[in-house]
Amino acid sequence: MRTVILISLSALVALTHSQCRQAEKKNEVRILGIYGSPAPLWEKGHRLDSLSVNAVFLNWHSINDSMLLRTRSEGAKVFAEFPLLNGKGYVENHPEAWAVDDHGKMVEPATWFMGVCPTDTAFREYRTAELHSLLNRFDLDGIWLDYLHWHAQFEDPEPILPETCFCDRCITLFGKEMAVKVPPGDTPARASWILSSADSLWREWRCRVIAGWVKEMRGIVKGHDPGMLLGIYHCPWNDDEFDGAQRRILGLDYDMLRGVTDVFSPMVYHARMGRTPQWVGENTAWLCDRLGIKEGEYPRVWTIVQAYDEPYTVTPEEFSQVLHLGTAGCSSGVMMFTSRAVAQNDDKIATMRKVYGSMKQNGR
Ligand SMILES: [Zn+2]
Repeated sequence: MRTVILISLSALVALTHSQCRQAEKKNEVRILGIYGSPAPLWEKGHRLDSLSVNAVFLNWHSINDSMLLRTRSEGAKVFAEFPLLNGKGYVENHPEAWAVDDHGKMVEPATWFMGVCPTDTAFREYRTAELHSLLNRFDLDGIWLDYLHWHAQFEDPEPILPETCFCDRCITLFGKEMAVKVPPGDTPARASWILSSADSLWREWRCRVIAGWVKEMRGIVKGHDPGMLLGIYHCPWNDDEFDGAQRRILGLDYDMLRGVTDVFSPMVYHARMGRTPQWVGENTAWLCDRLGIKEGEYPRVWTIVQAYDEPYTVTPEEFSQVLHLGTAGCSSGVMMFTSRAVAQNDDKIATMRKVYGSMKQNGR
């Protein structure tokens, strides 16, 4: 009986929160977010509302009840980052899920990223179960899919862009789903045939696989609570950069993703990616045009900009600049990577407070 009462109370709280979200939808405010736990800011004596922060995005493993409670009491939403196709910690024990390159070799980690083969059924079940468990455990405002691409590394100035995945399962599925008869042979021979004779269909199929993941995760999220948002952290490149690698290698097709995503969060890490601060604004405006959306419409764009000092010191002035530029075009939200990088520098905290305070005041 006690269990029943607890479940009912918990369901009531969830329902109330869901109704609040629907009411808020009619009068949405700009998202002024942080990426990472608020704890480093709290440890320095700050409150989220006094910093004008109204949204916290953080890895789902970092969420706990007391953090959630305090964040909500300070007026901020909570969005969980969910690392979708990062196979680190999984592929080591499940070699059948290890991505294979065009030489038939198991790929090397791309610096710190180890991509999984996105067609591995057991891995899909594993991730899906994790998502269900997360949704049942905490009442969240949304799920942000991260590591959404085939095995590669796009966050370095010189990106790592291998051709994958040519495991037997991927080749068979590709042939079946795209009605292509791949000639028999060893993996390098079949990969070579695909890349020379069916390249366009291969790229299309790979994008469909990624969009299929997003669609499935979205179905789970919306099935749990139609008011929750499904966002994606993604490579910010335009269609032409690195010979079209966004679609060609990463498997991200903006047209396919547009219909299954509530919020696009381009990772515009200017310093890390060897770009200028101005590029943040240019890229954000480009994405808005590319997606064909206007301010106030879905899907939305909420950018994530760089606060941390790598490979050089991002000054408070530069941080202020990229926060502003992250709201260019149709963007209706901005956050920074990371909350800890801001908390470590009092001038960056003051910058965030000033910029967010002014955006809250002016609606921009
Ligand atoms: Zn594969």
